[in-house]
Amino acid sequence: LDPNLENLTPTDRDIEKVLRPQAFEDFTGQYKILANLKVFVQAAKQRGEALDHVLLHGPPGLGKTTLSHIIANEMGAGIKITSGPVLDKPGDLAGLLTNLETGDILFIDEIHRLSPLVEEYLYSAMEDFKIDIMLESGPNARSVQISLNPFTLVGATTRSGLLTAPLRARFGINLRLEYYDAKLLTTIVLRSASILRTGIREDAAYEIARRSRGTPRIANSLLRRTRDFAQVKGNGQIDTDIARYALNALNVDEHGLDEMDNKILLTIIDKFKGGPVGLKTIATAVGEDEGTIEEVYEPFLIQEGFLMRTSRGREATENAYKHLGRLKLGGNPS
Ligand code: ADP
Repeated sequence: LDPNLENLTPTDRDIEKVLRPQAFEDFTGQYKILANLKVFVQAAKQRGEALDHVLLHGPPGLGKTTLSHIIANEMGAGIKITSGPVLDKPGDLAGLLTNLETGDILFIDEIHRLSPLVEEYLYSAMEDFKIDIMLESGPNARSVQISLNPFTLVGATTRSGLLTAPLRARFGINLRLEYYDAKLLTTIVLRSASILRTGIREDAAYEIARRSRGTPRIANSLLRRTRDFAQVKGNGQIDTDIARYALNALNVDEHGLDEMDNKILLTIIDKFKGGPVGLKTIATAVGEDEGTIEEVYEPFLIQEGFLMRTSRGREATENAYKHLGRLKLGGNPS
């Protein structure tokens, strides 16, 4: 259930590929982003130019990688995929850049994790489609400038706050993905079930959807696990009973909150009397990185009404107390 791709098993990753929408019209939700992207793609195609560089940000599993593939498909271009931590030295990046054909997409996941040296090397590539490369080494070393084919950099990040200003400024298109509501996720679950040839009732799809933390990757993963339960414990069809049975067996919370979500709320309630408490203190108490809490966990908890961000820190809401079966002591219950 981890929304991070790196924790998926190889088969999960293969299925994830199969379930990945290939064109704008297969992509559910994020309608505002999609409408804008369609315009930019069409305009670039009409002018015969590469699309401007695109920055996609938002929590894991919301469709950033998927969108970058769709952009490549819609542009009729190739795509090369890498990620910030993988690009160790400017040389690694140079190898990728010089192999791009005109209009190709270079997708860099976790772009906030580029080393400063590699990041700086990227600037002239993005701006002028030029890079300097070193020929030979030692006393004969000299650098020459070479031209690249015009390309589109698509950068994805869960931590937009960590991007440096100069890098951010080099993206002409800046898009923020939002969590999906249960209705959209129901559509996604139904679509995935049909690709996997699994019979599912619409109310069962909704049950999975509303417990998926607003995240398509989690919805797809819960669908696959529920399919297993339906196959072994039922007749292969997913109805609400088998969906509930599976979700309970998988320890999926009624609201789809995951372990860390609940840990954050419990910490605020049990250790800090419901808050307000500072982000740093919460981070230390739950053993998670401050920025990750702020950009991955908090947005969902706030959106669902479990957490409030005030000038004095974070506070657990009445909803959070109810959800965790805690009694709110003192103060006026609002
Ligand atoms: P990210 O790169 O933001 O972590 P991905 O693009 O890898 O997320 O999406 C994770 C999975 O969720 C993909 O396999 C894809 O099938 C599914 N998915 C994401 N967004 C959508 C969407 N809007 N419609 C249908 N499926 C989606």
